[in-house]
Amino acid sequence: MVAAGEPWARVLRRGQTLRIVDLEGRQAVDFLCYNAANPEARYTAADTMKYAKTIFLTRGHGIYSDMGRRLLTIVEDTCGRHDTIGGCCSAESNELRYGVKDTPSCRASFLRALAPFGLGRRDVVANLNFFMNVPVEPDGTMAIVEGLSKPGDHVDLLAEMDVLVVVSNCPQTRNPCNGFNPTPIRLIVTDPDPGASRQA
Ligand SMILES: [Zn+2]
Repeated sequence: MVAAGEPWARVLRRGQTLRIVDLEGRQAVDFLCYNAANPEARYTAADTMKYAKTIFLTRGHGIYSDMGRRLLTIVEDTCGRHDTIGGCCSAESNELRYGVKDTPSCRASFLRALAPFGLGRRDVVANLNFFMNVPVEPDGTMAIVEGLSKPGDHVDLLAEMDVLVVVSNCPQTRNPCNGFNPTPIRLIVTDPDPGASRQA
């Protein structure tokens, strides 16, 4: 369980699956990932969108590093709406947008979670947001609006190599990304099914 506003990080071994469960619905889960063996190779939003040919990632899409390698595959998605362009909240952007100082933020959470792995400010790149809803209109208008996830919706991410995954369970209360009420999520790491690999 990851409480509202808290971060989480660990290395997934190749073949393991991470399930992210939005327990109560409408909860943004900010997400970064890195090649565990070489964290300079990290998630790239731009290339991931180009390879998927869409800004809306879902089942079957790969999550890629900036070295052209697939870090993770989305193998299940019961929600169908996630965000690739809105990025994470920070105390600074909250002050600029909402006039409030020193708010908790996903960037601060990312930094807390990355520190034990020797990573820091320069390693926080444009991130993926599961269960966050950022529609783009034909005229280019975009906005963070209320999420579409229902209680219990989940995504399953299959590790295609050893991957450091970092999650910030978003603390934002000043826009609709968490329905103005941040809530807990559940994370489940599953080992590969040995029977499945024998059949492959
Ligand atoms: Zn956030």
